[in-house]
This record gives sequence, structure tokens and C-alpha cells, in this order.
Amino acid sequence: METNFDVVVCGGGPGGIGAALGAARAGANVLLIERYGFLGGGGTAMLVNPFMWFTSGERQLVHGVFQEIIDRLTELGAYRRRAFDPEALKIAAEELCLEAGVKLLYHSFLADCQVSDNKIQSIRVATKDGLKTITAKTYVDSTGDGDLAFFAGAPTKKGRDEDGLSQPMTMNFRMANVDKTKKPPVQEMTKLYVAAKADGKIKCPREDILVFTTLQDDVVHFNQTRVVMHDAVDPESLTAAEIESRRQVWQISQWLIKEVPGFENAYLQRTAAQVGVRESRRVIGDYVLTGEELLAASRFDDVIACGSYDIDIHNPLGEGTVIKRLKPGEFYDIPYRAIVPRKIDNLLVGGRSISTTHEAHSSIRIIPIVCAIGQAAGVAAAKCANQNICTRDLDVSKLQQELLRQGATLGDFVPLV
Ligand SMILES: Cc1cc2nc3c(=O)[nH]c(=O)nc-3n(C[C@H](O)[C@H](O)[C@H](O)COP(=O)(O)OP(=O)(O)OC[C@H]3O[C@@H](n4cnc5c(N)ncnc54)[C@H](O)[C@@H]3O)c2cc1C
Repeated sequence: METNFDVVVCGGGPGGIGAALGAARAGANVLLIERYGFLGGGGTAMLVNPFMWFTSGERQLVHGVFQEIIDRLTELGAYRRRAFDPEALKIAAEELCLEAGVKLLYHSFLADCQVSDNKIQSIRVATKDGLKTITAKTYVDSTGDGDLAFFAGAPTKKGRDEDGLSQPMTMNFRMANVDKTKKPPVQEMTKLYVAAKADGKIKCPREDILVFTTLQDDVVHFNQTRVVMHDAVDPESLTAAEIESRRQVWQISQWLIKEVPGFENAYLQRTAAQVGVRESRRVIGDYVLTGEELLAASRFDDVIACGSYDIDIHNPLGEGTVIKRLKPGEFYDIPYRAIVPRKIDNLLVGGRSISTTHEAHSSIRIIPIVCAIGQAAGVAAAKCANQNICTRDLDVSKLQQELLRQGATLGDFVPLV
């Protein structure tokens, strides 16, 4: 087994896919490690759908790898108005990575790392063949949970400042064979759901019905369950969250079949492979991006990605969701310094666990933005590996130029010539 690389990316979700492709296209020899037997992370293992918006008015904010994924999904007949087929996402992401020369290592769980002189010297990966040691010049943490940064001793934070609580977890599920001609509008379904909750038929903290259409006319996607006050990086708490979320799925699906018009002949088609984790560790970096900065449409000279999604906080304690929108047509920048962890010199964060507050995290976490962040982390990692330099010493203008060369866009940023 090859164990020595320029760049190792840990985690094959939207961030990791962006990172691996960004690094490979920038000329690095790249390994992508993933605990499951497929790529996609939130978009596959957590059955998240659709892609949340990546536009500001008429303007598309995210291109690059994310656009390539959309193009490949479209070629596969598996994309329509931000909804996508998760099975096709597995294929699309895998093909793109293999074509770019990324080496994939599935069924491999990042378990530990060795650090000296503020650098990760090697990582330990749990495989079916036992623990393996793998080395790279630069590492990208795309685990979503900041696992590598945490193992390396970089500072991390969880949840809200006041109580450390994170956003709830959700087991996504789908009902098939739904008769949409009879299905009530969402507001009517919510009334039935609220009544069923009041009658004690459903025990779930979510306040209303949250559904999305899919590519199949008879299939309805439910982002409905809510498991509060659990910790996604505490193994016992995560286990309890899986159990509670599955209990809710079964209860809600059976209620739909028994009591909601249009669902009489429906069945529970699938649940996600794992409970969906909105929020866990955030890796504290050289800059901590805040919710106020996002809402103020802040610009940064070291921009590496842009977004316009809402501050969207599902109540960590129970019912309710806080939404704060940017003004129409506005968007924010994400600075390079927010993906550079403090204390460790050869690690970048390429996913939802970048350096933000709890509030800002709730906006940057969506798939398109995370994919753009990942691509930037991958390109930066390749450049650092190639030049044998620390992440802090990187010339960010060179990173920005390479991102533009790769087809990414950086908002209003205009490169100096
Ligand atoms: C319920 C829910 C609904 C959401 N709804 C939407 C939505 O509608 N639209 C949208 O755009 N976004 C949505 N999101 C947000 C989005 O899905 C995630 O924030 C996004 O997937 C994060 O990408 P990531 O690559 O940072 O992490 P992830 O997608 O979590 O990917 C991390 C990857 O790393 C792997 N991994 C983790 N730890 C290890 C380890 N130690 N070793 C090896 N591999 C590891 C995982 O298996 C996974 O493949 C939702 C999230 C949830 C939970």
C-alpha cells in the first residue's frame, strides 16, 4: 500500500471532494481517505437534499468543482433545480476524483496522528488490515467534525458560547409511492402534524413539516426528525442520537401512512446511512468569522469562497428555527485565514468545521459553500506541499489565481496582474 503523499485529505464529503480535486489539479499526489465505501458525505451518507442556494440574485456564486459535480449529475440525468440523486452523486464524485488522479482509500477511519514541531508527521488510519501509518507534506481535514485538527491538538470549539450546545441532528428519510394528487399542502400537513404531536402520537421536537421534492414524482424527502442536546463527536451520545432518530423516523412514517391523505399506499423507502450532523467541532483558526460579518456582506482580501445562504439555526433545545437573511443580492466572502488552524503548520480545514462562530457556521455549512471551501483548502495544501512551506507562509494571491484557473469564482475579487 502506498503510504506517502504530497497531500492527504481526510473525509470524502463535499469539502473533501473539493479538496482532493483542487489539490490534484494543482499538481499534487493526493490520497482521499473515507470511512464509508463511497463519497458524498452529507449528500449521500446523511441523505441531504437539495443543494441549498448558491446564487445572489441572478449571480451564481459557486462554480469550480461544485459546478463540475452539477454538470456530471446533469449528464447522468440526475439533477433538477438543485435536487439530485444521491446514488448518482456517489458515481459523479468518484469518477471526477479518479479522472483527476486522486487515490481513493475507502473503509478507512482516521483514528490518530503524530505531531512534532507543530507539524503532523503522520496519521493513523483504522482499516480492515489493521492500523496503517500514512504520511503527507500537507493535510486537509474534511471530516466535517474537525477530527484531524482535534487529534493534532489544534484548538476547537463546540456549539453555542453560552452552553456549548450544537444544532440538532436529523435522520433524513424518504417516503415512496406517495399520491401527490391527494397529498395536502405543507401548511395543512403541518396542522395535522402539530395535532398528532398534541395527541401524543408523535414525539419529535421539530415544530413543523419540512419536506422537499425529489427527482421521482412519487417520492417525498423528509428533513423532519430532530434530536436535540446530543454531541456528534461523543461516541455514546452519537449512538443514542442514531437510536432516537430512527425511533422518530418510524413513528412519523407510520403516522403518515395511517393519517395523512396521499400516503395511504406509501412506504418508508430509505433512511440515511447515518444521522445527519449539522454541527460539531469548529476548528479555531487565524480568523474567526462571525454571523454579523456574514449579514453585513463582508469582503476580505484573502477571499477563498463566497456564500449567500441564511443564518439558519435549528433550535439546539427543542422547537423553533432562527433564520436571518442577507439583504437581497448580497453575499459574503470567506477568508483564507479561517481555514488555517492555530498551532499546526501543515494542516488546513476543508469543510464545515472552519473557523467561525456558532452563528456563522449555520450559514457556511451548506454543500455548495463547503465544496468551494474544500477546493480552496486543497489548492492551498498542494501549493504548500510543492513549495515545502507552512500554511501561514502561503502567498494567498497565488492560491486565488489557481482557484480562478480551475474555474472557481471569488465574488468581486479581481486579481492583480
Ligand atoms: C439534516 C441535515 C440537513 C441538511 N440540509 C442541507 C440542504 O438541504 N442543502 C445543503 O446544501 N446542505 C444541507 N446540510 C448541510 C450539509 O449537508 C453539510 O454541512 C455538508 O455536507 C458538510 O460537508 P463536509 O464535507 O464538511 O462534511 P460531511 O458532508 O459531513 O463529510 C465528511 C466526510 O468525512 C467522512 N469522515 C468523517 N470522519 C471521518 C474519519 N474520522 N475518518 C474517515 N472519514 C471520516 C464522513 O464519512 C463524510 O464522508 C444539511 C445537513 C444536515 C445534517
